[in-house]
Amino acid sequence: MTNSEKFTPWTTRYRPETRAAQGDGWRGPDTGAVPPPVSLAATYARDAEYRLPGGLAYLRDQGGPGYEQVENVVAGLEGGAGALVFSSGMAAATAVFQVLPGGSRVVVPRTMYFGLTKWLTEFGPQRGLEVVHVPMDDLDAVAAAVSAAPTALVWAESPANPTWTVTDVAAVGEIAHRAGALFGVDNTVPTPVHSRPFELGADVVMHSGTKYLNGHTDVVAGFLVLAPERTEARATLWERLQLHRRLTGPLLGPLETYLLMRGIRTLFPRMRQISATAQALAEHFAAHPLVSRVAYPGLPTDPGHTVAARQMTGGFSGMLSLHVAGDWQRSLRVAQHCRLFIRATSLGGVESLIEHRYTFEGPDSTAPKDMVRLSIGLENPADLVADLEEALERAAKEDR
Ligand SMILES: *Cc1c(COP(=O)(O)O)cnc(C)c1O
Repeated sequence: MTNSEKFTPWTTRYRPETRAAQGDGWRGPDTGAVPPPVSLAATYARDAEYRLPGGLAYLRDQGGPGYEQVENVVAGLEGGAGALVFSSGMAAATAVFQVLPGGSRVVVPRTMYFGLTKWLTEFGPQRGLEVVHVPMDDLDAVAAAVSAAPTALVWAESPANPTWTVTDVAAVGEIAHRAGALFGVDNTVPTPVHSRPFELGADVVMHSGTKYLNGHTDVVAGFLVLAPERTEARATLWERLQLHRRLTGPLLGPLETYLLMRGIRTLFPRMRQISATAQALAEHFAAHPLVSRVAYPGLPTDPGHTVAARQMTGGFSGMLSLHVAGDWQRSLRVAQHCRLFIRATSLGGVESLIEHRYTFEGPDSTAPKDMVRLSIGLENPADLVADLEEALERAAKEDR
């Protein structure tokens, strides 16, 4: 029996928005506290019969009382069979690669979250992984890479950080499955509000909970979610992932788990407003003389728009990149001149951020030099437009 059943008749048939807002109806087990209390216990006492009264033994093994709630809610939002919470998005993503059999071949996007590319480069070969990088928006290239040799896993991220290149998730999933490979999708940027990768064939979905799920720039967290229909390969993968988390301990702390659940409650209204503002900004700056191109899948002129419109619903999330006209240093100065956009890395919070990715990533970076990446928050769109226009003008004036 879940805590909720004692207090409220709760059903998982409620829509995802309802499940998020009420945290699946969970209550403090004794008091009915809304929201549930935080337990910091790392270990649990056995009774005189040497039984564990609540089934919990040790924090690293099973988590604590608040964990099942956040995992069930995120599994529910994705339409998955279950979820595991991790201490970061990277802990979640690398778990998938770490539990593959030694010698596995993996096909990953050439453009994706920088940290995962870096981990695969630094540690992949050393762990016996053969890592093949492909342009995931080129289905012929994906098919060629996957059929060239037995492949254990195909990984996708759409739209992909930081160029917002769109991948046809269903088509890549089909290619992966035809070759007997597992298919993992990083759904951090679209969130389950705009995209549900299990409906497009994913076996496992990954999130950086640090970003939109938490949404308040004060928690680092991650998730893996398992596809709803059971297959032998999925069951084996999930068992290995559960065991990996138990034995290596990349589990989120109880306080952060509480904060994360609080953030998730407002995911839907945040995403709706953030995506609407991002769309408005993308349209505004696409027509701006000091901007050479706006990368945003919500623009009808964006190369990924047709596919994105097919696989995303209700918006295109809050990430866009501006390619600034003029020589590339001007884009860096645009970031320097912003007053409202905060010059900071990360994404998905309530406050808008601007970042010159090339400078952040350093000389190995494949990020276009003339590009600033924007993470749109909940500010008034007119204030954001005015801030960027002023920064663009000032940066351009310095070149005259
Ligand atoms: C931030 C991010 C990650 C890594 O998550 P952390 O919580 O920072 O470890 C992975 N994928 C994407 C798309 C991200 O934006």
